[in-house]
Amino acid sequence: MSGLSNNRTLQILRKAEDEKYGILAQVVYDAGQALAFVRAMEAKRSPGILQMFPVTVQQLGGSFLKYCVDIAHSASVPISVHLDHATDDAALQFVLGLADQGIKFDSIMVDASHADTDEENIAIAVPYIKRCNDHGIATEVELGRLEGGEAGLREITGAMLTDPSKAEAFMKATGADILAPSIGNLHGSYKFVAGGPNFRQEILKDLQSRFAGRTPYVCLHGTDEISDDLFRECVRNGVTKVNVNSWLRDPYVDALATGLKTKIMPEAIDDALNAFQKEGERFCDLLGSTNKG
Ligand SMILES: [Zn+2]
Repeated sequence: MSGLSNNRTLQILRKAEDEKYGILAQVVYDAGQALAFVRAMEAKRSPGILQMFPVTVQQLGGSFLKYCVDIAHSASVPISVHLDHATDDAALQFVLGLADQGIKFDSIMVDASHADTDEENIAIAVPYIKRCNDHGIATEVELGRLEGGEAGLREITGAMLTDPSKAEAFMKATGADILAPSIGNLHGSYKFVAGGPNFRQEILKDLQSRFAGRTPYVCLHGTDEISDDLFRECVRNGVTKVNVNSWLRDPYVDALATGLKTKIMPEAIDDALNAFQKEGERFCDLLGSTNKG
């Protein structure tokens, strides 16, 4: 982990783990959402992680990433910028190329969970992780495999639950800092899961007891539609990075779509920013990060 001692994402997660709260890691798709996220964190005096999918940085380019890094790093609370689910070589080459130009994420999920075996997952991920670390970029990896898809992510089928007894060797072999376990969580809707989300909390508890006080930090994916109680339970059981997408995105999109029917565009945008910020603030209270920044 040398070279990453000043890494912003890891500093934020270290404090969250020590003080037992969760960090909102929110997906953004445009500049308005990025700005509203920073406003929410500042309003609640909360640390946060602003994240995006590769499709967004590829769509909007390095100047958009630079904008996100600028507003995150100049905020009055600690905020880092993370790339979620970098699964393919083109996306990783693109963002590592930006890093070569000095425009870089604080952390990147090098996601090779589509591999058939852990060994293959490691073999794919390690060269990218080394390059990330050379730039001072921390990394997240997934052990096991989550099912489903979100807007901007590819659809995955064939979930495999994480075996905590394999986590130590996996993290050592990859050299990554953050672990995304597969615990019955999935990307997208739980509507088609009989009885709703069934998260194996014993996997989180096992990881918590194995890795207390050291890396990896545990990241929860697949949080659409889950209850407040389930968020709290996962944080209690050691999750620090809490990935969120539609909870903030949908109120933003709805407010923009509704506003544009009757208002001028800047006013509709204000409504959308406010809707995103308000839900972001609710998450700071829910995850316990309010006043921790
Ligand atoms: Zn995810």
